[in-house]
Amino acid sequence: MEKSHLSLLAQVPAPLLDWYYKNARVLPWRENRDPYRVWVSEIMLQQTRVAAVIPYFLRFMEQLPTIESLANAPEDQLLKLWEGLGYYSRARNLQKAAKEICMKYGGIFPDRYEDILSLPGIGPYTAGAIASISFGQPTPAVDGNVLRVLSRLLEWDADLTGAAEKKQVAGLLAAIYPAGQCGAFTQAWMELGAVICVPGGAPKCEDCPLGHICGAFGSGTQMSFPVLSPKKPRKKEYKTVFLLRCKDKIALHRRTPGGLLGGLWEFPNTEGHLDPDAATAWLTGRGLSVHALAERAPKKHIFTHIEWHMQCYLVECGNENNDFVWVTERELREKISLPTAFRKFAGELGL
Ligand code: SF4
Repeated sequence: MEKSHLSLLAQVPAPLLDWYYKNARVLPWRENRDPYRVWVSEIMLQQTRVAAVIPYFLRFMEQLPTIESLANAPEDQLLKLWEGLGYYSRARNLQKAAKEICMKYGGIFPDRYEDILSLPGIGPYTAGAIASISFGQPTPAVDGNVLRVLSRLLEWDADLTGAAEKKQVAGLLAAIYPAGQCGAFTQAWMELGAVICVPGGAPKCEDCPLGHICGAFGSGTQMSFPVLSPKKPRKKEYKTVFLLRCKDKIALHRRTPGGLLGGLWEFPNTEGHLDPDAATAWLTGRGLSVHALAERAPKKHIFTHIEWHMQCYLVECGNENNDFVWVTERELREKISLPTAFRKFAGELGL
């Protein structure tokens, strides 16, 4: 990092904060600096757009308004509140951390960065966000938004997404954090990356408060930054999903703990695409008599590193079996949290 970069960064706080104070979006988690609200919102916002998060956040705060209520919530309630957000380990880690805060800190959110960082599910980004926004500390929250803006400002032509590079960036930014405005400064970077120096399209440089010092804008190279190493292609997995009905009951299965969607509910399924005969044999092998079996439209679900290509059979069964848990439609609708990968088949059952 050259000295000229540091002197350029030193020019960022004043115009960025001025712009932020005038343009910050009104968001429910910005109503106050309560670390519980900041924490829950930051975890929800990972991998999810602001507009999608707002109703989840409001519902979550209504039902679990305190750290203690989160620590004591039944798992089914917690997962139902998270249904559709994906990455369910985030919800489980929230609860683990809430329990730890109750046990170790008497239910009061810790204010030391290291203590925050040591909580389950909290990495340097989230710890930086909470420590700066809620406790006014100069702890940058370096995510894709910040890296994108910074790499364009400085025309920094290296892949910065590794942990070591992010740490280096955090160190640089910490040096320019303005005393007394640390929380606003963290949020200003996030805001600029979300609404002006946007991902996946042309940045709105004409409206940018940093346009006058931005290297990429000056040289017209905005779209060349950030520099990213090529991603590995996603692994493809093929499955056959069964929507099994027996009278007014539907079959579900609990996934084994750990791994992708670990411990969550799913419709019974198996690896590979089975033709109707093989599908019938798979079901009879599990003690089910098959009255009718009809193929339904296949669906695809994309996770970060894997994509599932799922074919589907809707099956009328003559009996229930012990391999699966048989629930009513109402239970499935109101009580069971089904991951989106499977929820997308619910329409086939009229749910
Ligand atoms: S001037 Fe353009 S490229 Fe530079 S930081 Fe602003 S929006 Fe991003």
